[in-house]
Amino acid sequence: MKRDPTGFLKKEYKELVEKDLDWKLRVLETGSTPHAVVDGKEVIMLCSNNYLNLSNHPKLIQGAIEATKKYGAGSGSVRAIAGTMKLHVEVEKRLAKFKRREAALVYQTGFAANAGIIPQLAGKGDIIISDELNHGSIIDGVRLTKADRAIYKHRDMGELENILRDADKKYNRILIVTDGVFSMDGDIAPMDEIVKLAAEYGAMTYVDDAHGEGVIGEDGRGIGSHFGIEGKIDVEMGTFSKAYGVVGGLIAGSQDLINFAYNKSRTWLLSGSHPPAVAGAQLAAIEVLETEPQHVKKLWDNTKYFKKELESMGFDIGESETPITPVIVGESSKAKELSNRLFDEGVFALPIVYPMVARDKARIRTMMNAGLTREDLDFALEKFEKLGRQLNII
Ligand SMILES: *Cc1c(COP(=O)(O)O)cnc(C)c1O
Repeated sequence: MKRDPTGFLKKEYKELVEKDLDWKLRVLETGSTPHAVVDGKEVIMLCSNNYLNLSNHPKLIQGAIEATKKYGAGSGSVRAIAGTMKLHVEVEKRLAKFKRREAALVYQTGFAANAGIIPQLAGKGDIIISDELNHGSIIDGVRLTKADRAIYKHRDMGELENILRDADKKYNRILIVTDGVFSMDGDIAPMDEIVKLAAEYGAMTYVDDAHGEGVIGEDGRGIGSHFGIEGKIDVEMGTFSKAYGVVGGLIAGSQDLINFAYNKSRTWLLSGSHPPAVAGAQLAAIEVLETEPQHVKKLWDNTKYFKKELESMGFDIGESETPITPVIVGESSKAKELSNRLFDEGVFALPIVYPMVARDKARIRTMMNAGLTREDLDFALEKFEKLGRQLNII
């Protein structure tokens, strides 16, 4: 048979379009600002991960420009060969200090961190124990290992303990891995209990704090600080692409962890390092977090107000404990319609639908931003109320 070697490209894409499962990309014509122009329309931004609006902070912009002028547009190599600049090292030192850990390591992205280090922490004869709602980049990292896997029900510590008890006798290393803040629901992993259970059974702990860094804990120090267990989580992983407003993955922990990680992580060893502009902006982001606590405070003030108002209108906003607020509407088609109509009215918030969440739990996921004013929030809330009524959601 003569096969059509690339025919599947069109066919599979068409299938996605027919099921309305393809991504319809919206294009920003401004920066990722609280008021943005998207596809030619001015909107209030409620779906950026730029929680603290740091991507538009003058100090970060300045940091990027100065680093570029001084060191150029690119870094020239992978970190391990000739791509480690003084700036990269400075970011890692600053970050370790901010996170109150011995050492830190920056990867190209959070995805590259999970895909790079997780497969090195466990292999044949070991087990990785994972929360069922963990992020896709954790799942892919786990897929790269020969370790056995076990999945516990979301935040179910009883089930985690059962698995640990069983694993204790059978395996060498045990790695518990979890999102810190879960990105679909905005709830927080019970890291204090996980750390306690891990200590009891001799397991390692790994938290992906992508949505917690810069958001929870003292001045945004993340989940260790949030639970008062700083220094007790073996691997604190996070990202510069969300609240920090730049891009880049990170891990923080012991010096032993970092020495091990940069010698073993293939994503780190085999892919180019950040351009100076990125490192310059990262450095500025840490400095802003250390010296300007008002952004985190404003983020939380906005979050509390927004949640309270949505709830009083009668919306189901789930169990979120963070600036991720889901507005649960039920059917996928309803979530999509609400999102489209919000957009027409000047509010940009994306629907999250099956299969990302259960069929009857389709939602609009809103992400709060410290750069939004009370007026902006009232504008968005008014649209939610109006459309929520029209679509019989409230
Ligand atoms: C966004 C996200 C990542 C990926 O981070 P990037 O730096 O954007 O690659 C990883 N884990 C979780 C939980 C995330 O939300």
